[in-house]
Amino acid sequence: MSASITLGNEVRPVSFETSESVGKEVDFLLPLALLPAMATGSHLKLPARISSQLFSAVPRIQDVFRLWGTEHWGAALPGAPVPGAKFQQIHVDSEVWSERDERGSGVACFFSGGVDSFYSVLKHHDEVTHLIFVHGFDIPLTNGVLRTQASHMAREVARELGKPLIEVETNLRSFSDTFIGWGAYQGGALASVGLLFQHLFHKVLIPSSHSYADLFPWGSHPLLDPLWSTELTRIEHDGCEATRVEKVAYISRHETAMKWLRVCWGWNNKNNAYNCGHCEKCLRTMVNLRAAGALERCKTLPHNLDLRVVANMNLSDESDEAFARENLNALERLGTEPGLALAVAEAMNKYRLGEFKTQLTLQVRAHVDKREWKRVMRGLLMLLRYHPRALVRAYQKLGSPMRLRRWLRV
Ligand SMILES: [Zn+2]
Repeated sequence: MSASITLGNEVRPVSFETSESVGKEVDFLLPLALLPAMATGSHLKLPARISSQLFSAVPRIQDVFRLWGTEHWGAALPGAPVPGAKFQQIHVDSEVWSERDERGSGVACFFSGGVDSFYSVLKHHDEVTHLIFVHGFDIPLTNGVLRTQASHMAREVARELGKPLIEVETNLRSFSDTFIGWGAYQGGALASVGLLFQHLFHKVLIPSSHSYADLFPWGSHPLLDPLWSTELTRIEHDGCEATRVEKVAYISRHETAMKWLRVCWGWNNKNNAYNCGHCEKCLRTMVNLRAAGALERCKTLPHNLDLRVVANMNLSDESDEAFARENLNALERLGTEPGLALAVAEAMNKYRLGEFKTQLTLQVRAHVDKREWKRVMRGLLMLLRYHPRALVRAYQKLGSPMRLRRWLRV
């Protein structure tokens, strides 16, 4: 299946090679193109009829992203390559269908080999009829070595669980990455792949990233994913009822998961290791497993946790911080790993101070005269280095730019 997206004078090809035949509906084009269109302020015109249910959800999907953009992500969309890109309300033009023949009898679950995937597949083992593994989302298409390993894993897991596997290879990210970061786009991208198979599945599960306790704006979200559903196929965001620690405890009881768990993010994995064992995702999962008392059972991650490495783990956004917090809470409740709890807390502190520094810099730049702000920042950074708690407390008490200005005496 291939599509050409015309944007101004440019034509961008997007293709999906699939191991299973795709349906005739073109609904997959909407989740594929809507966010890039919003990020570029483009009028979106679809070439054929799309589901009436999906089309009627477009205003709400746009409202969600527009508000997340303005109120949560600020001026810069997360990971967007174009500085200052914003989600804009756009016009979407399409004819609709509402009647179709019978719905597909199957239920699919996206499967990457990670904690969320294993949790959803194992929890819904009796209901799920197929697994879908996508090449080109978490591993670049150009990384043949890692893709071969991951594909082998997916086939073996599917065989062990007795489920047919559908493999999809797509260059979708070569299109989307030029407009929007993966963090915001991933739910739409998964929904787009799911909607290729409406003739087979009346339900497609997207394993959740975060629990109900951490529902900050994120591209795959229980509020958002179901909005990509059609009359034929319900898209479900699955697994919010469990924290990552609880999910790991659940899957650690299953031998297949402990034999094949694959969590390492392929875009940063320089050595093509199945799991590198030292990136944030690997470390976070090792801590999850330790908290569940199951690290030694996992055959795909190292069993020794170096506390210094954990303390220096690089948390890069609120998603990483949320997972670290879950780990810290679990370790504190457990009470038997005080050193590990301290190391996780230290990594979180580093992240929070980094975030605070970014906020502080933005505030000072916005409210302090151009000639003065560098001098003011030098003083504040010195304070941050030697008296971080006092500075954070003082800053939190301020609240308004006027009070900040007075506090800075400028
Ligand atoms: Zn890793």
